[in-house]
Amino acid sequence: MNTETNKKSSELFEEAKILMPGGVSSPVRAIKPYPFYTTGAKGAHLRTADGITLIDCCMAYGPLILGHAHPEIGSAIEEQLERGWLYGTPSPFEPEFAKMITGDHPGMDMVRFVSSGSEATMAAIRLARGFTGKKDIVKIEGGFHGAHDAVLVKAGSGATTMGVPDSAGVLSDLVAHTRQVPYNDPEALEAVLAKNSDVAALIIEPVLGNIGPVLPQDGYLKEIRKITKAHDVLLIFDEVITGYRVGIGGAQKKFGVKPDLTTLGKIIGGGLPIGAFGGRREIMELVAPQGPVYQAGTFSGNPLSLTAGIATLRYLHENASLYKNLEEKGRALEEGIGDMGGGCFVRLGSMFKYFFRSSPPKDYREVKECDTAAFPVFWKKMLDTNIFLPPSQFETNFLSEAHTDHDLAALAQAYRKCR
Ligand code: PMP
Repeated sequence: MNTETNKKSSELFEEAKILMPGGVSSPVRAIKPYPFYTTGAKGAHLRTADGITLIDCCMAYGPLILGHAHPEIGSAIEEQLERGWLYGTPSPFEPEFAKMITGDHPGMDMVRFVSSGSEATMAAIRLARGFTGKKDIVKIEGGFHGAHDAVLVKAGSGATTMGVPDSAGVLSDLVAHTRQVPYNDPEALEAVLAKNSDVAALIIEPVLGNIGPVLPQDGYLKEIRKITKAHDVLLIFDEVITGYRVGIGGAQKKFGVKPDLTTLGKIIGGGLPIGAFGGRREIMELVAPQGPVYQAGTFSGNPLSLTAGIATLRYLHENASLYKNLEEKGRALEEGIGDMGGGCFVRLGSMFKYFFRSSPPKDYREVKECDTAAFPVFWKKMLDTNIFLPPSQFETNFLSEAHTDHDLAALAQAYRKCR
């Protein structure tokens, strides 16, 4: 970024740095030497404080499957604003939305709404411990489940980018209850569970999104379902990214594997803050006030997020060709980029990334072998070409319904020029 042409952004960052840690509200946004500031967004484009228009392939890290400021979602939010945006009581939106979500997900008989993906995974882990009476959890190396203590171990997303997979302030006593296994390695899971009978749950992003996409090898998800069941360990699918991204019903439907618990976020809020966790009825019935596992939130199930969520899910259901179109957009980009040498393109529908290694990685260790020095140079060149990719070799890139053929051609051309 050139300070001359991005004067306003650089000035805003100078001020923000004094007032906010790292100048930002979430670490991955702290682009060096300073982030651009967004003042508007429409479709697949961001508009910066300095009047530059960028093609966006970050899409707010996943929620915006329909693009920025989608008119139907916007109208639904506007209509709801007239009726108030926070009640502190149940609203009719809750059973309506719960019916949609449980109807779409084979693994969800009941659901509780929360305000973020982090809250959802935190509650799901507590619930798994409450249900099984066991202490430990197993997570996948490089899996990211939000910024709470139990899962900040070998986490993907910003935690990998920033080189702090283990955060200061997290008690080692607590993290001692979080075991790690590599992705795509059912034997490693079997070995851990065979040795340890105190495991409450395996929490897994069915497609590793926060260091990826890293895709499940054939049969892997079915295999871990079998292993967890055999050891009486709950299987938690963290579908905060994959939910409604890889299709209606998420990865559990796509890969035909029924988890015990599921966490959702991102797309189900239509761009407003949200999270949800749900699962088998006998487990969910333990959630307060029906059962003894406490969980609560002032903003949980707020009418504005639910309105945006309902409008989004309705749109996804009513536009049957949407996922096919997203697949075609993804394929057009992949073909447009072609074989550039020295890297590989990995894609699942509208989730994609160009990895700086010769073959698709299968786990965290292989992702970490990527040429991390080459990525920032490439990323900066892309930004100078007015394309915004997530500022990390480890984050998934996203397409939306709003990316046009023109955007895709411009993207492919930029990839080839900047590599
Ligand atoms: N789980 C996964 C798989 C995620 O990708 C994220 C966020 N990127 C979270 C949980 C946490 O969600 P939130 O940022 O809404 O707290």
